[in-house]
Amino acid sequence: MQFFERLRGLLTSKGATLPEVGSLNPETLEEALILADAGPDLASELASDLRRALAKGLLSPGQERAFLREKLLAFFPKPAPAPAHRPEVILVVGVNGSGKTTTAAKLAAKVAASGGKPLLAACDTFRAAATEQLQLWAQRLGVEVVAQRAGADPGAVLYDALAAAQARNATHLIADTAGRLHTKDNLMRELAKLHKVAARAVPEAPHQVLLVVDATTGLNGLVQAREFREHAGVTGLVLTKLDGTAKGGVVLAIARELKLPVLWVGVGEQVEDLLLFDPEGFVDALLG
Ligand code: GDP
Repeated sequence: MQFFERLRGLLTSKGATLPEVGSLNPETLEEALILADAGPDLASELASDLRRALAKGLLSPGQERAFLREKLLAFFPKPAPAPAHRPEVILVVGVNGSGKTTTAAKLAAKVAASGGKPLLAACDTFRAAATEQLQLWAQRLGVEVVAQRAGADPGAVLYDALAAAQARNATHLIADTAGRLHTKDNLMRELAKLHKVAARAVPEAPHQVLLVVDATTGLNGLVQAREFREHAGVTGLVLTKLDGTAKGGVVLAIARELKLPVLWVGVGEQVEDLLLFDPEGFVDALLG
């Protein structure tokens, strides 16, 4: 199903659309944005923008929607063009439980479905179940995976996987990484090491570093996500569990706060439940 239709269904079933244009004023807008979980800062900022524009007579009746559409779209930075490197090296990072392993598998399925040859790397050696989970996904999808025993050096797993990707002409290497180590510093050091290992093996790798954020944790999840953005060279966001959030507006709050392009959204646990994010479709669905 198209992103737009599916998202509209999700938003409307959760009552997250904004009020009708006719009844749109700064107060109803602010309330609706807060109810949609877009966060109080964003809600008051947009309401003030609308109030100012109305006070200055900048908007004739019926122009509120177009005004808001433009403002909302500005919260989504444009993604950089897709890299043309082969293999394209993608690191999937984020806190434990955010949906990294599932997202890595879903991405591999997308690559395979579009005629590419994905290879998965189980670099979360800290959590034994993560490797098993990725192997299970790989088996189900008929995709190859490079893994080592629990506790192995994630850099060594990535090194092996990069060599395997090159030897087997994989188009994409998708590496699942750890979300928790003994300390935050350890984790960030380990991610920096993965960057180095990737860059030594493949020019300009990693080409994408996807930060997976659980949308149901809303603004609380952002505290940890900020660390990843600072230290892990993140290039884009994947917002998971959008099917489980009370309100879809959290996408706006997260994109605004992290100032990173939202590339994908997860809307379920199945392999097909990863949708390419379309900011315009999202904003149109939200504006109803
Ligand atoms: P990790 O610890 O970051 O690797 O997280 P996992 O990939 O193991 O995911 C944690 C849980 O979230 C699992 O039960 C997944 O099935 C579930 N999950 C992941 N993505 C989504 C999603 O988009 N929607 C829903 N409802 N569940 C998801």
